[in-house]
Amino acid sequence: MCFICNLKTPAAHADTDIDAAAPSSPRWQARRAFLLAAGAGAAGSAMAQVDVGSSSSLRKLVPAETLENSARQQYAKVLAEARAQNALASDGHPQLQRLHAIAQKLIPHTTPWNQRARDWKWQVNLIGSKQINAWCMPGGKIAFYTGILDQLRLNDDEVAMIMGHEMAHALREHARERLAKTQATGIGLSIASQLLGLGSLGDVAASLGTQLLTLKYSRDDETESDLVGLEIAARGGYRPEASVTLWQKMQAASGNGGPSFLSTHPSGNNRIEELQVNLPKVQHLYEQALRG
Ligand SMILES: [Zn+2]
Repeated sequence: MCFICNLKTPAAHADTDIDAAAPSSPRWQARRAFLLAAGAGAAGSAMAQVDVGSSSSLRKLVPAETLENSARQQYAKVLAEARAQNALASDGHPQLQRLHAIAQKLIPHTTPWNQRARDWKWQVNLIGSKQINAWCMPGGKIAFYTGILDQLRLNDDEVAMIMGHEMAHALREHARERLAKTQATGIGLSIASQLLGLGSLGDVAASLGTQLLTLKYSRDDETESDLVGLEIAARGGYRPEASVTLWQKMQAASGNGGPSFLSTHPSGNNRIEELQVNLPKVQHLYEQALRG
């Protein structure tokens, strides 16, 4: 769903995506300028410190409720499969308790980015797997894989940055936008027709849910999530510099014969630079959170 989970599939990142411009490229700047112009309507953006503009209006082609229902079903399926393989962490698992504690600090800072999140039933689960992976489905359904915690030896601040990043994908409705754009290019026409009432609701939910697991986000989406996640984590009391050390660890992991995506793709450095530029904007939020 995210560059984090796409580390093992570099081929999937051929730059054919219409949004796949590097953050520093003219195309990104143009999009950002547009977002700035349109940003006045973004929910809660007045209080935001990082600047990501408003969400794409294209996403409205896919009803949020439909997608959140699909995500809920797909999430239950993923958990059931993990449970069947004895790979779903129990409530008492120390790493899961750690994730829950971090989520509790971040969740109160999510609603300014999406008013629907007020009613989301956030869930965090831990799946035993060597994959360096974590994701958050629409509606706040989060999964971490033990591989990302163990192999990258993440401290709490770095875990909070990953979690904030994944929450941001859901809050900014990137999946909804991707699916809408997929429809626009014809690949998802069957889903479009189902949404228009030509198919059963169960089929729609199943189709969208399946797509959620293979969805690829654009680099613009990734940058937005980096910055929104950084702000959410800082407001939760997590050290902003951890966003940089996190991606440095990702890069190091890619150089050790592991996932090769970051070692061959410029977004690794670009995202670190973009984060560094934004650290001063959120430093006071972090200090404020520490003062309680
Ligand atoms: Zn991502």
